[in-house]
Amino acid sequence: MAMSRSKDLIRIRELLQRRRREILSANAGAHRELSALQNQERDPEYEENAQSELADYTLSSLMEAQRREIMLIDAALRRMDMGVFGECVDCGFEIPLERLEALPFAIRCEEDASLHELETRGGAAATPSL
Ligand SMILES: [Zn+2]
Repeated sequence: MAMSRSKDLIRIRELLQRRRREILSANAGAHRELSALQNQERDPEYEENAQSELADYTLSSLMEAQRREIMLIDAALRRMDMGVFGECVDCGFEIPLERLEALPFAIRCEEDASLHELETRGGAAATPSL
């Protein structure tokens, strides 16, 4: 029922906010590590090696993934504020709760998501997307 769904949405909101805090602190940690690494590389005594480049690259892509997830979380929280969270952007129907719990950033029901994937992957409607 609508009542229990809104309670579930509050639970998902808390989940997203907790996840957001976790990412932010992990991101701060990665940021610190990266600047430590870069300071070390600037040190003339320091011998550059492939391992540090790899660590540099790993940290950078980790931070990139964290930034992307924060953006997704913020978008989901914005949709909650607007009262449209959990509605499929294509058909307007409610996205089943179990799908939202597994994929809190989902903006489409399963059916439309797979249609959308087909469209973006190839076919006449395919346009280069970012
Ligand atoms: Zn739909």
